[in-house]
Amino acid sequence: MLILFDIDGTLLRSGGAGPRSMCMALQELHPSRHEGDFVDPEKMDTAGSLDPLIWRKLVDQRGLEATDAGHTAFRETYGAILANVFEAENPVYALPGAAAAVNWVHEHSDLEAALLTGNYPETGRLKVKAAGLDPDLFRFGVWGSEADGRRGLPPIAMERAIAMFERSIDPHQTVIVGDTPADVDCAHANGCRVIAVATGRFDLEQLRPHEPDVLLPDLADLTRFQDAVSEVLAAGPFEPRH
Ligand SMILES: [Mg+2]
Repeated sequence: MLILFDIDGTLLRSGGAGPRSMCMALQELHPSRHEGDFVDPEKMDTAGSLDPLIWRKLVDQRGLEATDAGHTAFRETYGAILANVFEAENPVYALPGAAAAVNWVHEHSDLEAALLTGNYPETGRLKVKAAGLDPDLFRFGVWGSEADGRRGLPPIAMERAIAMFERSIDPHQTVIVGDTPADVDCAHANGCRVIAVATGRFDLEQLRPHEPDVLLPDLADLTRFQDAVSEVLAAGPFEPRH
């Protein structure tokens, strides 16, 4: 059985360093002195999105052409700036209980831990390491650059797990742990279970209407997380919701 952890707002927080570094990368690649060209990173809606989609939004806002070469340059520049910001400011921290939750999944003989995130692989790994989480506890990652939308990520995770572990994995035996309505949506659209945590931009009241299978305030209570995993895995299959 597969437990897929989202990164931002679920396992760790980085104090807005991601959106800020993206804006810095855009400005470095496309310098502008026009006041209106500057995007306020605080106002960027990145929660639950995919990095390539955020890039596209940024270039659209500036009226720039979205090319593959432009995307590659942005990705490289953003990665370099993010690494510098992490080095200089040390803004990344693991959320309470995240390390213990991942470790428990890793140690559990019937469960496999992996990452499912909107991050590019290189910056996602950078965040995990900066938070002091052990990247080796995750069997693989599914990244924002691998699909056109978040709903496209869980099927890749299941395929990857089936190839890697050489056994079948049903969607309802796959659990996404995430902090946004987009995490809930991508799970339920694929017949997967979802445990939502209110440690990102959305609080319990904001997450509840999206009907995650289990809603937790955070991962701080390991027993509660373990119970949540047992509960959702015992619940059986259901019709994917679109
Ligand atoms: Mg998140």
